[in-house]
Amino acid sequence: MSITVVGSVAYDAVKTPFGERERMLGGAATYFALAASFFDQVHVVGRVGDDFGDDDLSVLATRGTDVADVERVPGGKTFFWAGEYGWDLNSRETLDTQLNVFEDFRPTLSAASRDCDVLFLANIQPELQLNVLEQCRNPKFVALDSMNLWIDIARDALIDVIRRVDCVVLNDAELRQLTERPSIVGAARAVIEMGPSSVVAKLGEYGAALITAEEFFALPAFPLETVVDPTGAGDTFAGAFVGFIARQLERSEREPVLRQAMAYGTALASYSVEEFGTERVERLTAGEVDSRVEDLRRITQFEHVAVPLEIS
Ligand code: AMP
Repeated sequence: MSITVVGSVAYDAVKTPFGERERMLGGAATYFALAASFFDQVHVVGRVGDDFGDDDLSVLATRGTDVADVERVPGGKTFFWAGEYGWDLNSRETLDTQLNVFEDFRPTLSAASRDCDVLFLANIQPELQLNVLEQCRNPKFVALDSMNLWIDIARDALIDVIRRVDCVVLNDAELRQLTERPSIVGAARAVIEMGPSSVVAKLGEYGAALITAEEFFALPAFPLETVVDPTGAGDTFAGAFVGFIARQLERSEREPVLRQAMAYGTALASYSVEEFGTERVERLTAGEVDSRVEDLRRITQFEHVAVPLEIS
């Protein structure tokens, strides 16, 4: 099995109550690939400028990720994003977004990227997501992420792509903004009516919920006392979620796979926020991932012991 991802590969300036980084490796596709590469072969489709360092390209290539479709544009500047978090880390303000080399990017995918079994359309212009989707030969599972900027300025194009994917991964505010529905379950149902069979609602420090036509499942975020930098948590979640699904694609029962994928997404995302940017996940081990998934299972399990509730 293999996974292709298209999305931003970026430099980020990030300020949180715990410190700041003026220019660190980031981008939705970067965080996704670092997580998904634990599970399967990943091919990244993206573009960087000649300001993009070889050391950063090596980070992107962690765990064998194929970066042949990451084009380096001579004289070009890498996508740049700047953001600042409030003291509780739940609110984030975007201070700057410079698409730079992504502005007019129309990639031609290599055969390896086109032949993927699973495709993730990470956060980037919907037109570019559609372009990549149309080049992939026969992906068996396609998921998509987006954000408020694209809902604001490219809504129709985004809805066109959503109609053609299996799963949409958005945060609660984005789901409300996209569907104009106040409840998350209602908003997810409205997305399912557009075509996808499942929706993952990312709820920040409250975890994530999975909504399909028949089911609802939710997990809390892993309880951490200190969160240093939430940047990329959503993309890291998506990388592990989609990576796990790719590994289990042959299993016929979809529902348990989606639930287990939620647990891996939650575990990986929790590591990501422990340090700035990609720092923690770069040196994460498979054993650490497993032990956090097991801890998560333990803290989310309970027994239903029926007691008489009416006192006579
Ligand atoms: P997350 O915290 O999961 O929302 O992802 C943060 C990453 O998304 C950062 O590393 C940014 O470089 C990237 N990003 C921010 N804005 C955009 C955008 N408009 N399009 C694509 N990627 C973006």
